[in-house]
Amino acid sequence: MIFETRIARLLFPSVIVKTPAEGIHLTFDDGPHPSATPAVLEILKKRNIHATFFLLGRNVEQYPDIARQVVSEGHQIGNHSYLHANLFFKSTSFVRQQINQAGETIEKNLGTKAGYFRPPYGYLNFQILKILKEKELKCVLWNIDSKDYCSNKQEIDNRIPDQISNGSILLFHDNHHTASKVHTYLPDILDKLLEKKYIFKRL
Ligand SMILES: [Zn+2]
Repeated sequence: MIFETRIARLLFPSVIVKTPAEGIHLTFDDGPHPSATPAVLEILKKRNIHATFFLLGRNVEQYPDIARQVVSEGHQIGNHSYLHANLFFKSTSFVRQQINQAGETIEKNLGTKAGYFRPPYGYLNFQILKILKEKELKCVLWNIDSKDYCSNKQEIDNRIPDQISNGSILLFHDNHHTASKVHTYLPDILDKLLEKKYIFKRL
């Protein structure tokens, strides 16, 4: 969703699409998922890489142990709403409810507060940003989209540029689209980035 990301950067300067960090940021959306998330965690652990997971409240409710494993293995967590509805055309009360319910579910089950929010599908408007500001949540998109949910290994590889600049935020998913194939692309992509001496940082 590079087009939306560019528009968002112009329209919404408070939204984070890159950071000033000396390192790159891996992000995984839509978990926890019963098989995709453990697979991703194992791949990351083997390489001593830490990432940020944008969790769905509904999935945290359903798989609290997997969500706790994400936290206990040193990863950062963010709020990705409760149900993964496109919030763009929804009422203020619905948007607020989705953000609050996910935040409360995360806090209740993980004993930690999410400081970052990523809107489902990356769709944003001023109403959503206003609510995030009230809730003191920082809005995070990405600048490199792997499109891992709809692509094969070669296509995903091609979307990760050879030269990534420091502060880049890479978008991946741990969901039902990636569960059966994450092992086919993620280890390889990470090994190539490690070879190039990139440092991985949580947001
Ligand atoms: Zn998502």
